[in-house]
Amino acid sequence: KVIMLSYRHAFHAGNHADVLKHLTLILCCIQLSKKEKPFCYIDTHAGAGMYSLESDAANKNREYVNGIQKLLDTPASPDVFAPYLALLKKAQTSRAHAYPGSPWLAAQITRAQDKLHFYELHPTDYQMLKRLFSNDNRISTSNQNGYQSLKSLFPPATRRGITLIDPPYEQESEYSEVFTTLKDGIKRFSTGVYLVWYPLIKRENSSKGSASEKMVKRILSEFNQEQLHVRYIADSQAKGMYGSGMVIINPPWGLEDQLKQALSFLCELKGCQHSEHSISLKTMDTN
Ligand code: SAM
Repeated sequence: KVIMLSYRHAFHAGNHADVLKHLTLILCCIQLSKKEKPFCYIDTHAGAGMYSLESDAANKNREYVNGIQKLLDTPASPDVFAPYLALLKKAQTSRAHAYPGSPWLAAQITRAQDKLHFYELHPTDYQMLKRLFSNDNRISTSNQNGYQSLKSLFPPATRRGITLIDPPYEQESEYSEVFTTLKDGIKRFSTGVYLVWYPLIKRENSSKGSASEKMVKRILSEFNQEQLHVRYIADSQAKGMYGSGMVIINPPWGLEDQLKQALSFLCELKGCQHSEHSISLKTMDTN
């Protein structure tokens, strides 16, 4: 099977989707770090790990302006954003205008006892990723298909873990690949935390709009675990991706309230009147 690799995250780093995804990831990692016991972190689609908001790529469409820049320009944001902003500042001490990717963020919060596994298929992004973490012996990077990874990694010895599934969705088939990957993972490791990100794309312009809805429905109905479903509409006028969503399976304690606070604030920043985000919790089936 040929895998298309035209997507490069450097063009999208720091956009509204990254804000939702990275905030959620950070909050989950912090929650799991509260217990001494080690956990593992798996990034099935890791990207390059570090980006620059000054790069030509980032400035082609300036997606970060409607994303992280909004937060950076705010004099005061709620405490729920503090760890995210602190990590951003840390990334920017070694390089001005840097924007860190999910692997870097997870690597900062995890401890000496934790293990991390990063998968990235694109040869250039993979080289950057590998170099970025070459001195960190907790981390394994792999230039392989992330959709296949969970089969070999799970169940983890630690029985605690967070998996981020963050594909480019370049092809419509990826929506069902995400589902299959989750199914493989949950079958072997039912108590893990799984974070699935997906884009909200106008139905009129793409069949991907209904593909993502179908995927979310399948996930909600297939798995018995508690699931938090979050949607954030960042720009209802946008022609392409107007927002994004996440399904969090086995959400850590407190995440729902934290995301409620965070998303209300992001909506306030944009000055939107009507509800531009939604959060719903599916509790465990008991039958
Ligand atoms: N998770 C990253 C972050 O938050 O910083 C961003 C990841 S980006 C949305 C998706 C990445 O997946 C791209 O770098 C792309 O090259 C890579 N990719 C595409 N198909 C893949 C596959 N089957 N396995 C692993 N990586 C893949």
